[in-house]
Amino acid sequence: MSNTIYFLGLAGFSAIIYLSITLITKMERVKLLQQNVRKLEGVLNELDEQAKLIVRTDMELNRTQEDLDKKIRDLYALHRLSQTISTTLEESQIFKRIRESHPDELGFEKILLIFWDYKEKKFHASMTMGYTQENTDSLLFNLNLDKEFYVSLLKSERTISSLSLQEDLTSREKVNNMFEVISFVISPVLPKEGNHGLLFMGTDSPEKALTEGDEESITILANQIGQGLENARLFETAWNAQQEAEAKADEKTRESTMALEQVEKISRRKSEFISAVAHELRTPLTSIKGYAAILATGKLGEIPQAVKERLEKVNLHADELVNLINDLLDISRLESGKTIIHFEPADLKNITDKVADMLSVQAKEKGIEIVVNLQQDHSVNVDRLQTERVFINLISNALKFTPAQGKITISAHPKKDFVQIDIADTGIGIPPEAQEAIFEEFYRVDNSINQDTKGTGLGLSLVKNIIEAHGGTIWVKSKPQEGSCFSFLLPAVETLTPDKEA
Ligand code: ADP
Repeated sequence: MSNTIYFLGLAGFSAIIYLSITLITKMERVKLLQQNVRKLEGVLNELDEQAKLIVRTDMELNRTQEDLDKKIRDLYALHRLSQTISTTLEESQIFKRIRESHPDELGFEKILLIFWDYKEKKFHASMTMGYTQENTDSLLFNLNLDKEFYVSLLKSERTISSLSLQEDLTSREKVNNMFEVISFVISPVLPKEGNHGLLFMGTDSPEKALTEGDEESITILANQIGQGLENARLFETAWNAQQEAEAKADEKTRESTMALEQVEKISRRKSEFISAVAHELRTPLTSIKGYAAILATGKLGEIPQAVKERLEKVNLHADELVNLINDLLDISRLESGKTIIHFEPADLKNITDKVADMLSVQAKEKGIEIVVNLQQDHSVNVDRLQTERVFINLISNALKFTPAQGKITISAHPKKDFVQIDIADTGIGIPPEAQEAIFEEFYRVDNSINQDTKGTGLGLSLVKNIIEAHGGTIWVKSKPQEGSCFSFLLPAVETLTPDKEA
């Protein structure tokens, strides 16, 4: 029995120990489980936080995407507007084109472009959108009543908006009421030329949240409009100036043509007059010369020596007059184109030698050397007699205006289709201011030689006319006290090429 009790007791005790151990183990497990649960709770919380963050980030990303989309839309709209503005060079067209390019796509349905008229001291509207004509008229009326505010805005050259006026509620409300909007942007339009203005863009939609980006876009648009207007105004000024210049040029051309016609008419009349007078003078002169010659012979009765001498002078003067008349007649015939130039090939050396020989006595008397310095043969296509007159006149002048022991050199060289001939002397030279005038009729330089010797001032005019009748030109280079060089062009005889010969 006691054994039974003992065993039962032992069993009970063992059971208790076992249960205790089991309990302790379970409790340990529960503890562990609790710890794990706590850890899991922490992880779950963290996950929850992260999920919330992801949602927040996603929302922000969506918003940024929306902002970006809007910005891109705005940029497109701005780009289109800029292109429209920059490709228009007529002021009125610029406003029309802006309207057609839908500036309201920038998110503002009410748009007004007003300009300050500096003369009339009031604002005018150049473009409106979202307002009826009646609205615009009354808006402008009220705006001009409160013009100081808008003029100062213009002067400040700054963009304002319902955002930037958050501190200045009075001004913000004033603009809101005036333009009947909830939010707005006003930006100055400042072209360098002409009147300045303001670009107003507003909306009465409560959904529209005005951003700094809107301010920027509208400022850019206002600048573009200013630039476009400046270009158009500059273009207009340049265009008007060009039209004016063209009109003036036309007028001047008309005047010049008329003046030229007048000069030609006068010149024709002068030639006709000279020619008529010369003819009239030649006949009596011939008679005078004839009578003087007959009287001088003594055929009509003996005449005293003194009378004879005077008759010879009459004859001499008559000769001079005949020469002058002949020169005048030649000039007027050449000028009117009545003289026919008989072109024929001639050897230049032939002509120069002949003239040099003709004037050699005169040259010897003065101790002046005439050098014909032609390096090669030159064939010229000229009227021989007229060309000889050119050489005679020029070499005679050189002899006249070159002091004793001087030198006259004749040289030539080819120049394109012409031969250039130079007649240089070591004479008194010609003052620069007279170098053009000496080719005019009757012009003589006021110098001691001219005071002492006779001359008509017709020689060079005749020479010039003859050369021009040949298609050439004449000019002079001269230095007072050093000498003069008269150069002129005569047509060269065309040298036949083998092709042409064939
Ligand atoms: P003229 O010899 O009858 O005066 P020209 O028409 O031949 O008329 O010449 C006009 C003027 O040009 C001359 O009076 C002279 O003053 C000037 N002149 C012409 N040739 C020369 C020259 N070789 N050297 C200096 N002056 C000259």
